[in-house]
Amino acid sequence: MGKVWLVGAGPGDLGLFTQRGKGILSRADVILYDRLVNPGILMWARAGAKFIDAGKTPQGTKMEQGEIHRLLVKYARYGGKVVRLKGGDPFVFGRGGEEAEILAKAKVPFEVVPGVTAGIAGPGYAGIPVTQRGMSTEVDFRIGSRAEGSVSGKTWLGYMSVDGLEDFLLKALDHGFTRKTPAALVASGTCSNQRVVVATVGTLARVAKKARMRPPAVVVIGAVVSLRKKLAWWEGRPLAGKRIILTASESLKRGWREEMEDQGAEVWEIPMTRTEALPPQKSWKEKIVNANWLVFTSAAGVRAFPGVVWDLRKIAHCQIAVVGKSTAEVLQSIGLQPDWVGGGPGSRELAKGWPRWAKGRILHLTGDAGSGEMVELFRKKGFSAERLVIYQNSGTGSIPQPVRKALSESGADWVVFASGTAAKRFRKAVPKWAREPKVVVIGPATARAARQAGWRVRAVAHEPSASGVLNAILRRS
Ligand code: SAH
Repeated sequence: MGKVWLVGAGPGDLGLFTQRGKGILSRADVILYDRLVNPGILMWARAGAKFIDAGKTPQGTKMEQGEIHRLLVKYARYGGKVVRLKGGDPFVFGRGGEEAEILAKAKVPFEVVPGVTAGIAGPGYAGIPVTQRGMSTEVDFRIGSRAEGSVSGKTWLGYMSVDGLEDFLLKALDHGFTRKTPAALVASGTCSNQRVVVATVGTLARVAKKARMRPPAVVVIGAVVSLRKKLAWWEGRPLAGKRIILTASESLKRGWREEMEDQGAEVWEIPMTRTEALPPQKSWKEKIVNANWLVFTSAAGVRAFPGVVWDLRKIAHCQIAVVGKSTAEVLQSIGLQPDWVGGGPGSRELAKGWPRWAKGRILHLTGDAGSGEMVELFRKKGFSAERLVIYQNSGTGSIPQPVRKALSESGADWVVFASGTAAKRFRKAVPKWAREPKVVVIGPATARAARQAGWRVRAVAHEPSASGVLNAILRRS
């Protein structure tokens, strides 16, 4: 017997998906996901997981609740780890309670993983506390079109309320709110396309219509709405509302997501490449010992190096050169100091800026995807130079179907390429876009490769690091 997890995916911002939900999702065999789940979350599923769109049948109609129940029980009985992924919290207007009842009756073990509910998170991102001392001490969760109950200095949150908005506001009047009471509509709260309009009970319907507000949205009614004036923080960040896709492998982009999220971006990690150190060959020893200069142009090369040198003392006579600050930092993290750090973002710049005093045999330690360009440039300048491939680029560049679909339909603002391979593979993986993302690359060599792959490059980082890429995006945003 398998098991079912009723997992809350949160309201949309990928950072509001719980760690627990993420851990469970990464081990799931079958994932039934809802319409309101941000597809970026599905990237945390393991390769080979089965995705079932529980919002739609393959024929494009809405999947019956009974069919969802049947699938949950079926896959659990097959012995699968089944995740039922719902927007927000599974037990808040999510029919999670009904599904739990069915599972209990069928004696299928299940767990609940609560999520951040839209009714609280949406207003929170809009700068509206749903309770406030001296203003509101109660919060009601309601279905927006069927409101009842009395009001006394409290907040109403209306879910499912774009169509029934006018009725809902009228009901609010019956329950003690006045036409002057502040009211807000928060649409796609916490998502990269979050939108908020603020008005009053008397005017919100008209204002929302004029602003063409679309579902999903929650209505907030109450004095607390007025606090948004002081507390709106979401829109102020430089990359608020921007979706950025990172295509580099883990080894290249540690910490990139966090840096970009700090600026307000929504980051989807869709790695197109993976790097793997190659098993060291006997012939490498001689080449390394005979070199006067070891040159690294990538963090992946540096990371593969400890597996290549059998004894660091044997390279004590070698000098080390790297391109870029971030590669230098990785070198230091394995206990080696660079003797020279090239500022240029690509091999051309490295060769051009190469110091005159740096004489001797040069060995470029690199990956199989790199061109031999740098070695040629050095040779042209009269140096003895050789290339040694110590890691390989692997990875298939495949994207789960629902993610690919979401990308071609809703697009992204930026895509970051850290290699020509990633640019090529991503072009193939998502050939058609309703809204093509702007391309930012880590350096001129990648820019050339991305252009060859058919991308229009909008920004080139001055330096191949997270902050280099971030600054390039900010300059063009
Ligand atoms: N279980 C979910 C609610 C499901 S009902 C939760 O706890 O959040 C679906 C309704 O939730 C939508 O009609 C809309 O009113 C609201 N909703 C869901 N996601 C939202 C979002 N990102 N922003 C605003 N409202 C949202």
